[in-house]
Amino acid sequence: MELKNGRFEIQGVDLEKLCQKYDSPLYIYDAQIMKKQVDTLLRGLSGVNCKIKYAMKALSNISVLKYLKTLGVGLDCVSIQEVRTGKMVGYHPSDILFTPNSISFEEIKEAVAERVVINIDNISILEQFGHEYGDQVECCIRLNPHIMAGGSVKISTGHIDSKFGISIYQMRHLLRIIDNYKIKVIGIHVHTGSDILDIGAFLQGAEIIFDAAHSFKDLKFLDFGSGFKVPYQEGDISTDVSELGDQLAIRYKDFCIEYGKELEIWFEPGKFIVSESGILVVRVNSLKTTPASVFAAVNSGLNHLIRPMMYDAHHEVVNLTNTEGHKRIYTVVGYICETDTFGSDRKLHDVREGDLLAIKNAGAYGMSMASNYNSRLKPAEVMILDGEDHLIRRREELEDLFPTQLEIEC
Ligand SMILES: *Cc1c(COP(=O)(O)O)cnc(C)c1O
Repeated sequence: MELKNGRFEIQGVDLEKLCQKYDSPLYIYDAQIMKKQVDTLLRGLSGVNCKIKYAMKALSNISVLKYLKTLGVGLDCVSIQEVRTGKMVGYHPSDILFTPNSISFEEIKEAVAERVVINIDNISILEQFGHEYGDQVECCIRLNPHIMAGGSVKISTGHIDSKFGISIYQMRHLLRIIDNYKIKVIGIHVHTGSDILDIGAFLQGAEIIFDAAHSFKDLKFLDFGSGFKVPYQEGDISTDVSELGDQLAIRYKDFCIEYGKELEIWFEPGKFIVSESGILVVRVNSLKTTPASVFAAVNSGLNHLIRPMMYDAHHEVVNLTNTEGHKRIYTVVGYICETDTFGSDRKLHDVREGDLLAIKNAGAYGMSMASNYNSRLKPAEVMILDGEDHLIRRREELEDLFPTQLEIEC
């Protein structure tokens, strides 16, 4: 979003007018930013025969998925429902990777029937898979390399006590099962959940995968998961994709010679593609001065954007309707009956009741984690594509809360 003549706009669309048209709270996505991010990935990683599988859990609106498909990405899906949504939108099954966790073998069977690429992250499930399909259905194996490059345990999935993946220390056991059932392993996957902050550290981790790859003879791809970082506040770094691509390419070329075949390299960015494209626009319901703070209370809350409360995530807040004058310190809070803070002690242009605030970097894990807590209704979503706004999800109404509920006689 850009400030032009004192007004914020996206691709020339005035944001205040947009909120008059669709009301608030409103999720607004800038398709141009999604495209820019995908281009950055494809260009930066072109030296490693790269395929992008967008992690759709970050933002799963079908219009967003349809748009991303035009950019040439595939999907990384974590549930059979995501798989079916992806297929419904038109993704080819071979472009969909199913990377679930803690699911039943029944769900794996359903995904096999959908003909998508199956990623298995549990020895017990792999045994059942081998028993059921033998060498008839190809699969990918999710390894846990036990890398933990900083970050909080909540969003790191590679550490020793993690429920994700098959431990690299279980390699012997893993290979025995594969050999026994003649399972055709076409991919190895690692997603540690930690950010790629330091390319050197990433490459060290990658070494474990290159090493492990030699134990599998039928590979078609290596999947490095995600870890692509976007800046949430000033001073944050973003993953330097072209540097990563250049460095990885050097090692990759050697690996391909050793392995005897050019494998595809897959990545599964979610956040990197959609985070910066999205804002959540909220309206200030009231101001409240307490002995300690000035609260700006808005018509939204952790029911619409849970990242600040769940992950301590920092999201920039901007006053859309007062863009000049001096700034004051506010704590921006939601209307949910919980401690529900979007941002503490933020410097904003004089906030008045009725002002619109934009919460930035809200494209990823915003709407896709929204709920109806407090019986509040979910916001509408708008995507701006080629300079035009498109409503891609209507605002919920009270009636939307009841279709799945049954009322008993009492
Ligand atoms: C969530 C997830 C991703 C995407 O992570 P981001 O931080 O949004 O890029 C990729 N792969 C798997 C397996 C995931 O669970």
